[in-house]
Amino acid sequence: MSVRLAGIENMSQLRHSLRTPLNHVIGYAEILLEDTTDPDAVATLERILSLARTACEVITASGSQEFAFETHRENLMTQARAIHFEAGKLHRANPRDVDRIRIAAIDLLRVLAGTSPPESKSEAPQPKLLPRADVKPVEGRILVVDDDEFDRDLLRRHLHRQGYFSESAADGQSALKMMRIGYFDAVLVDLDMPGMDGLSVLDAIRSDPGLSSTPVLMISADDDLKAVADSIQRGAEDYLLKPFDTVLLDARLRASLERKKLRDHERTRNAELERLTVALQRSNEDLQRFAYAASHDLQAPVRTITTYLQLLQRRVGPKLTSDELEMIGFAQGAAKRMHDLIQDLLCYSRASTAQIAIERVDCQQLLNTLVGDMEVVLSEAGARVTSGKLPVLSGDATGLRQVLQNLLTNAVKYRRPEEPPKIHISAAREDGYWTFSVRDNGQGIPPEYSKQIFLMFKRLHGDDIPGSGIGLPICQRIVERCGGRIWVDSEPGAGSTFLFTVPCAEDVE
Ligand code: ADP
Repeated sequence: MSVRLAGIENMSQLRHSLRTPLNHVIGYAEILLEDTTDPDAVATLERILSLARTACEVITASGSQEFAFETHRENLMTQARAIHFEAGKLHRANPRDVDRIRIAAIDLLRVLAGTSPPESKSEAPQPKLLPRADVKPVEGRILVVDDDEFDRDLLRRHLHRQGYFSESAADGQSALKMMRIGYFDAVLVDLDMPGMDGLSVLDAIRSDPGLSSTPVLMISADDDLKAVADSIQRGAEDYLLKPFDTVLLDARLRASLERKKLRDHERTRNAELERLTVALQRSNEDLQRFAYAASHDLQAPVRTITTYLQLLQRRVGPKLTSDELEMIGFAQGAAKRMHDLIQDLLCYSRASTAQIAIERVDCQQLLNTLVGDMEVVLSEAGARVTSGKLPVLSGDATGLRQVLQNLLTNAVKYRRPEEPPKIHISAAREDGYWTFSVRDNGQGIPPEYSKQIFLMFKRLHGDDIPGSGIGLPICQRIVERCGGRIWVDSEPGAGSTFLFTVPCAEDVE
């Protein structure tokens, strides 16, 4: 024979036409079985299920061979009649569902007899739209897209029993329309639909930015496995085979919804993080611009104050009393402090924004030059600076010099009165970093302040030792911008060791 049945052109279509009514029989029999406690009805339904499942297996096993199908045709017809007969015994069950089993059995007989393919039971219903986000159903809102009315009904009833809120569409276009107006947590789409097929619906959902995050689960008849693989590749979340296994349906749907929830959560967090990063970046830039502009513009008036105070002192100084001269001295001291503060702020601002130039740095040579430049300060304090062997490396020479200068200045400033400063600088290589240490024999820092001293304007000393509390934040900014870190080890009364690291991936020697 072949497959000369009305409207059926090939074996695959024949198998589909046979399996569809059998899936309906299985689906409705399972639903009735869940609802009944009557032992006679249970036995009947189990017989129906067994007949339908056996028939399904025969159809699947016959593969694409016409001959194999022909040999089973009579048997299948007997099974279809038996299903129809058994359904007739279900007097007390839900008559609508029993009718559907009988209609499915007749459809099966029609296909087997080659009279005509099963009549289409699907009429595209008017989409009933869901409100956007009012009552949240317990498990989620699901859209079922299937051209077969019985399959839609079965699926929606399974979903309802598992606590989902569902809507259905009989074709792809109505489904997309519903999705654009309503809100759904997941969509179940039949692969094999006339007109816009499942894959096209999937593509349309994936390419619409407003819908693309909705998980799509494909529904397929057994032998559509290639199409299933295709759809997974094109972005489907998962797939379900007809007839539906309710436990599997629930597990897969739950897993998909859980994954979607995690993805949504991550997306929200990323968006928020991105927003905060941009805001922080902008506010940092504003702050830096403000600090730079303010300190830069303050320099001129401070210079004017200092100059006029000097002029005043020179011109009228000899006529003034010692009290009046002292007052001018106070004003000059304040102007000097303001000048130093402005310089430090400018330096901090530059340390944050200046381009870092990586170059070959001979650290020993850099230290020697620095000590030479600081000679007046060092010798006034009677300081002795020694060092271990320092490396030649690739790094930010200007930054490194600034850090060492600040640390040496502090080692001198915060010395103990009874002992001249002794400062030792060394470097050791470990784990891809050079760790520099600057050890002094000064006053030391109480451990509870070892982190705070790196905060802007944090000072542990009063005005008797001049300072702005910006020197260490400058060091930290420079070191961190180069990919290192800075910290202090200290014992109050015995001295401090400031340590900082410099990445040594591109060492010269
Ligand atoms: P400044 O020296 O201008 O006050 P810094 O940021 O350089 O600002 O230092 C912050 C504070 O840390 C200092 O005021 C001082 O109290 C403490 N400090 C820094 N270096 C040392 C040191 N070598 N020994 C003891 N205390 C120090």
